[in-house]
Amino acid sequence: MKVSIENIGKIVSGDWDKGILKGDTVTIENGRFSGIGYRDEANPSKSDVTIDANGMVLMPGYIDPHTHISIGDYSPMQRMVGLMEEALLQGITTVMDEFNQFEGLPLFYPPDPAGVKATAIAAYRAWKNYRPGGAQKVHAGSITLVKGLKEQDFKDMADIGIWRVAQIGGSSDLTVKELLEEASFARKYGMFIPSNYGSGVLKGAVELDLDFIKKLKPDKLAHINGGSTACSWDDTRALIDETSMALELVPYGNLKMAIQIIEYLKTKGQLNRLLVGSDTPTGQGYFPVAVQRAVNIISSLGNIAAEKAIAMATGNTHDLYRKWINTGKIQKGYEADAIIIDRPPGSVGKDALGAIEAGDTVGTAMIMVDGMVVALRGRDARPTTKHIRLNGKDLGVSDPNDALFDPPRFYWKSTGETYLL
Ligand SMILES: [Zn+2]
Repeated sequence: MKVSIENIGKIVSGDWDKGILKGDTVTIENGRFSGIGYRDEANPSKSDVTIDANGMVLMPGYIDPHTHISIGDYSPMQRMVGLMEEALLQGITTVMDEFNQFEGLPLFYPPDPAGVKATAIAAYRAWKNYRPGGAQKVHAGSITLVKGLKEQDFKDMADIGIWRVAQIGGSSDLTVKELLEEASFARKYGMFIPSNYGSGVLKGAVELDLDFIKKLKPDKLAHINGGSTACSWDDTRALIDETSMALELVPYGNLKMAIQIIEYLKTKGQLNRLLVGSDTPTGQGYFPVAVQRAVNIISSLGNIAAEKAIAMATGNTHDLYRKWINTGKIQKGYEADAIIIDRPPGSVGKDALGAIEAGDTVGTAMIMVDGMVVALRGRDARPTTKHIRLNGKDLGVSDPNDALFDPPRFYWKSTGETYLL
């Protein structure tokens, strides 16, 4: 199937270096971007589906690489259901877990290698089979390191398809030496390793100090601005200076520290080390809008161009996880996961990017996964000024009152294609 999106105001690539692309048209074939440029170059003719973006901004779907989802679309800690579908409708098209949370599951296990393996495998299998809203891509199943895991355990899990360790969070029953040994097993089987920094939130947690981080060499420093308590500025600056790893900011961590980190990275020319995660759902954060909030905060309070802040939540994340995902950029060959966003009525911003830079929350006007239109807006998405046209039909949805609590969706079966155009 060929899909074209025409009359785009700005195409945000999601790529840190490329920023905003030249052009007003994007074509998609077999679920992947096939052409990007001005209308005559992109050749949108003979499309099965034509989307008129009505001058709005097109950007890649957001990726949330730091969640604590459950198994299924509910969050027991908050007693909330349907959070993931709402996140999809607000533009989060890809999600990863940093260990699951559900009733009865210890935050950090007592020594229970069989338990952590079973949980990782159950989550991996369940989420391979289920896509919230029929479309959201969820990469779940990460291994919490506990005392007693052997090299063979990592091999067993890698053979199943599990490709990452859950954020190393200072579990109290593991020594630093044991943590490093287990991480070396994970590394041997090609796994991704994220780590926290500092003393951690749990009583008796092992101190994950700079010396430990330098020995571990994690792929990602999870919530460098604290999840939710930040390290001292001296410790944070030392970590930035003495390592080169990717640094994750979360909107429910310490925002004062987030801004200090941004300002410091600006002076070093290293802003491209940043990516955004939500660290939700937890007691501290509402999942569906967390990544968008972070982008708003980074752009408006950190004085960073909106397309750069968006790259921190799309293309930078792709680059870090490139072995396992092919989404997060509007680029030929990438999976066509994209959203159309617009300024809310009354914003001083001239378009969605200007609104973000001004600190206003923007609305979604279309959510697309694998080249298919999934929905027009979230239940609680902010209003947009404009709306899209689909195959010449004016859909007219831009305001919560247009579709209160039940925004139009075009694809809602959990498995298999049910495209209804
Ligand atoms: Zn976390």
